[in-house]
Amino acid sequence: MTANVFAAVPYVIDDGPVEGRCHACRNEQGNRAVLVDATGVAGVDNSVIKTFRYRVCAECGSMDLLLDPGDEAALYGDGYYSFEGKTPSSVERRIIGLRNRFELAGRGILGRAISLVWPGPHHRSIRRLIDGKIGRPLQKSARILDVGCGAGKWLKELSDQSFTNLTGVDPFLPANATSGSVRLIKGDVQDIDGRFDLVTIHHAFEHIPDGETALTALKDKLDDNGVLIVRIPLGASYGWRKYGGYWVQLDAPRHAHLYSPAGMKALADRVGLETRDVAFDSTSFMVTGSEATLAGMRPHTGQPIASLGTQSVFGWSRSRRIATLTNRLGSADQAAFYFTAKT
Ligand SMILES: [Zn+2]
Repeated sequence: MTANVFAAVPYVIDDGPVEGRCHACRNEQGNRAVLVDATGVAGVDNSVIKTFRYRVCAECGSMDLLLDPGDEAALYGDGYYSFEGKTPSSVERRIIGLRNRFELAGRGILGRAISLVWPGPHHRSIRRLIDGKIGRPLQKSARILDVGCGAGKWLKELSDQSFTNLTGVDPFLPANATSGSVRLIKGDVQDIDGRFDLVTIHHAFEHIPDGETALTALKDKLDDNGVLIVRIPLGASYGWRKYGGYWVQLDAPRHAHLYSPAGMKALADRVGLETRDVAFDSTSFMVTGSEATLAGMRPHTGQPIASLGTQSVFGWSRSRRIATLTNRLGSADQAAFYFTAKT
């Protein structure tokens, strides 16, 4: 990769050469800083524009947010989406259940149709484990730990699909709670006892400033033959190159790192993890969310996207087509990485 990894990225300003090693691949040659004007910053009025600075790695294309001291405060205030979700109605729960059954087991025509319009990438990410494509086939009794679980919505949906051993951990939970086969623990991954057949972290790893320590802690929770799934937004992706400062998954200042695929693999290799597979899983939101951000909305805080062109059937279908194509080409703006401990 050349030093011009960001040269054609829109809505960013080149801030020249920058010191320091890439957090992902440790490269320190040729890295540059870019400035991004972001709106929709948590806890800040939407009309306020704030400038953020990133180091873009000349080697792997990963991006590290370079925060000023004091900027870390109050990033997860009211309205952060993981904690927002209202309890679904019984009808919604049935619809979600049909979709999830299709995504986990490949069964049901209605579920297939729902999945097309309203995909659930969390579920799809474990399909290949259930099918035995990585390691032993995942059983319903498998010990599953979801890190950064929010209010545990995904685990509750897995419980509805007859999974029986589900643990979630999140430092922002109000308190510990157990409901049926779902155990939610307020804390960090280091606070959890035991080891697991599957450890997942869905769109939370990019929030963690020290990714190397965090990835090591995640690896330490794997039992023999255990699989770790890390789902993250991706730097050096179509989303970044197309929308730059308005890419919805930039989400400053919450996303501390936007790893590229090569950067994520390099980091994993360093902590003793083997990359078994990468599944790109962008949805139409890559386009609709970024277009909404460009229009001054805040889709990543759960604000409904008002009637933009992307919300028409034509616009949605186009957005979905772009996402599907980037998934196939490996330039999508998010992916699931499948890791096992090196032997
Ligand atoms: Zn790098």
